[in-house]
Formats: sequence, C-alpha cells, structure tokens
Amino acid sequence: MILQLRTLAELSEFITSQKQKKRTIGFVPTMGFLHKGHMSLINLAKESCDIVIASIYVNPSQFNDSSDFDNYPKDEQKDLELLSNNFCDAVFIPTQLEIESIPNVRVDLGTLGDVMEGRSRPGHFEGVVEIVHRLFKAVSPHKAFFGNKDYQQLLVVKKMADSCSLSIEIIGASIVREPSGLAMSSRNVRLSKDIRNKAGFIYETLSKTNLFNIKESRAFLTDNEFELEYLEIHSFGDDKRLFVAGLLDGVRLIDNVKVN
Ligand code: AMP
Repeated sequence: MILQLRTLAELSEFITSQKQKKRTIGFVPTMGFLHKGHMSLINLAKESCDIVIASIYVNPSQFNDSSDFDNYPKDEQKDLELLSNNFCDAVFIPTQLEIESIPNVRVDLGTLGDVMEGRSRPGHFEGVVEIVHRLFKAVSPHKAFFGNKDYQQLLVVKKMADSCSLSIEIIGASIVREPSGLAMSSRNVRLSKDIRNKAGFIYETLSKTNLFNIKESRAFLTDNEFELEYLEIHSFGDDKRLFVAGLLDGVRLIDNVKVN
C-alpha cells in the first residue's frame, strides 16, 4: 500500500530524506475521488521525476457554494488503491488545522481573476491560490502537475508561482475524457446515468464551435438542458481556447478545447 503522510512532520521527514538522496520530486495536488484524469497526471509526473507525491484535500475556501462542498464525493480507500496501482510513491492527506497553520498569501491575478471562473465563482481563485501555495510550501516539489481541464486554474497557479518567486516548474496535462467525450471529473458521479451517457454533447459542441457559430452553439447547449454560464473564446499568450461552464442535472461542469 502507498505511503500515507498525514502530518506536516511526517511529510517534512519524507521530503528531506528524498532530497538528501538527490531525488527529484513531482507533485500532483487533488481533491480526491480520483479517476483516470488524475492518474494521467501521476503517470506524467513519473516520466520526469524520481518520486511522485499526490495530495488529497478538499479545500473549503475555494467553494463559493457550500452545498457543492458538502456534496463533494469522497472515497479515500478507493483513492489509496488507485494511487498504489499507479505506483504513486506517497500521498499527503492533511487536516484542515495543519494546512491552515502554514502562512497564507494573496496574489493580484489582474484580469485573469476577472473572467470566466473568476467572474462565475467569486472567491474561488483566492481559495485556490491559498491552498496551492500552502501545499507548495509544505511539499516543496521540483515540478507540479495540473490538468488542462481547469485551464484557468493552471494559469492562476503559474502566476502565483511566478509572483511568489517559487522555483517550481508548473506543467499542464491533456484532458482525459469518458468514452462519450465528457471531460472526466469527480463531480460526474452526481449525474444521473442517463444524463451522464448523453453528456458528450458538451464536448461535441465545443469541437464544432468557431468564432462564427458561437451564438448557435450557446443556443444548442441551452436547448439541451445545459444551464449555460459561459461559452467564450479567450487567448492566453499564443494559446487560444474555447471555454464552457454550466450546470447539467444540477452538477457544475467545465471544459475547454484548443481553437486554431
Ligand atoms: P481536482 O481533484 O478536481 O481538484 O483535480 C486535481 C487535478 O486533476 C487538477 O489539476 C485538475 O485539472 C486535474 N484533472 C481533473 N480532471 C481531469 C481530467 N479529466 N483530465 C486531466 N486532468 C484532470
């Protein structure tokens, strides 16, 4: 079974011994209820690091909706098995009390904090910055891996690492999808079976949308019982993407695709 580190002292002892052996450390932060999307990050980390540490922590401060927090799925035993089967070396599972003993930071996200998730979920990115910074301080990895599914979050983490001068390389990984095309998410388990099977229409719509038919795509999503929050194209550097967010069957889903 995988090595479980539940206190900062246990974590620190492990990290120190690995660094003394000159091992590079890859870190994959998660909120648990793990799936193949998370495992793709573990596997990517294994390719370029000697040791891979995952964390499981459902951070209350990044939930702007308390019922979303209360209903967030959990299955620690299954998570531990999945991590072991994917040869993850250790998992950090802190308590709220311990994680909150690490000093907090605030970072000016500029316009990045004002669009899409920043606009739809007030306080969300402040919570993300707070927890990821605390985890980075505790784990002090060489590299950290994040999914492109939460693409804006990946940019926020890069900005935080940059403005706090942390020497951690932040790496983004491709989105892993269910056979229907629906982006894998821990929240998908809250969709009814019928709706989950049909939910591939979101990705299908993204794949067919361009600058000229975006209005029709918005109407199509709404007609399919998707309570659309946004369907927008944004460019970050030379990376142009189409982003979507909304509620399906009462479950909040996000996705994005690269636009040429
Ligand atoms: P979460 O547990 O949802 O906070 O996600 C932890 C990490 O896994 C984040 O970096 C997510 O972007 C990433 N992730 C979640 N779902 C997927 C997916 N379907 N494909 C790739 N990465 C994912």
